Amino acid sequence: MTSERHTSQTQIERCENCKCETTHTVSVEIRTESMKQENTEFSREPYRITTCQKCGETTSQRMNNA
Ligand SMILES: [Zn+2]
Repeated sequence: MTSERHTSQTQIERCENCKCETTHTVSVEIRTESMKQENTEFSREPYRITTCQKCGETTSQRMNNA
């Protein structure tokens, strides 16, 4: 793997919308869930954002499955 300074990368993944494997742009985004303002330490969750390059479908998946 190369270590270029790209915030996103592409890889082949299955798209449920296309029903086949397509090229996806993959990036990681920290989202703050501000439901409880006193608990912000625990509400910042990294999400893996994938965008299908064929149909534009965006899927976000929480990376911490604790
Ligand atoms: Zn797609």
